[in-house]
Amino acid sequence: MPEPAGDFSEWLSDAEASLQSGTGATAVPCGACTACCRSSMFVHINPEETQTIQQIPRALLFDAPGLPKGHLVMGYNDKGHCPMLVDNKCSIYEYRPQTCRSYDCRVFAATGVPVDRDQPDIAHRVNAWMFSYESEESRREHNTLKDAAAFLQNNGHLFPPGTLPTRPAQLAALAVRIYGIFAASSNGATKPGAELARDILIALNEPQTFSK
Ligand code: SF4
Ligand code: SF4
Repeated sequence: MPEPAGDFSEWLSDAEASLQSGTGATAVPCGACTACCRSSMFVHINPEETQTIQQIPRALLFDAPGLPKGHLVMGYNDKGHCPMLVDNKCSIYEYRPQTCRSYDCRVFAATGVPVDRDQPDIAHRVNAWMFSYESEESRREHNTLKDAAAFLQNNGHLFPPGTLPTRPAQLAALAVRIYGIFAASSNGATKPGAELARDILIALNEPQTFSK
């Protein structure tokens, strides 16, 4: 059954702002869905999220690999569920981590990047999202974003090894982040792939935040 994902242009503008600020929370019309809480994901928690940390039993929190001291991750149980999910509801909803607030599975529907095959419940929800378009320009924006995502997926050879994210959610977020580069290119200033890759690398070196 289709799930209304909202106006595409509005979504894109909110998603770009959220990625730029690194603290944005997207209002996802999740309804009763809890797929991302049941999909074997590690939840990153920043040291500043003291109220959140107080809500979670210490035994469920681990030092985040590769990040400075104080950054934590919460794992999942043997069913792949977040341990804070109780009776199919987040038991710390008011204090849920920023990572959970920022997660927006509509990014997969928007970019066309496939969900990790180990996360079929999220993929099911993603397949149901239907964006609306207030104008032809809005449809063009959606096509441009899909072009940006396809460029990243098909042109890994133009980038130094290890520079492009490998996780689908991060790749999709990167496509949103570089949307402006493709929007400029599709407005007449078409660039060769190598030049686009160079512009993307410049964008990659700027501060960024990706979702879980
Ligand atoms: S999978 Fe998507 S719709 Fe479902 S809870 Fe997560 S963000 Fe909401
Ligand atoms: S903390 Fe809450 S919102 Fe976040 S993954 Fe766990 S149950 Fe879901």
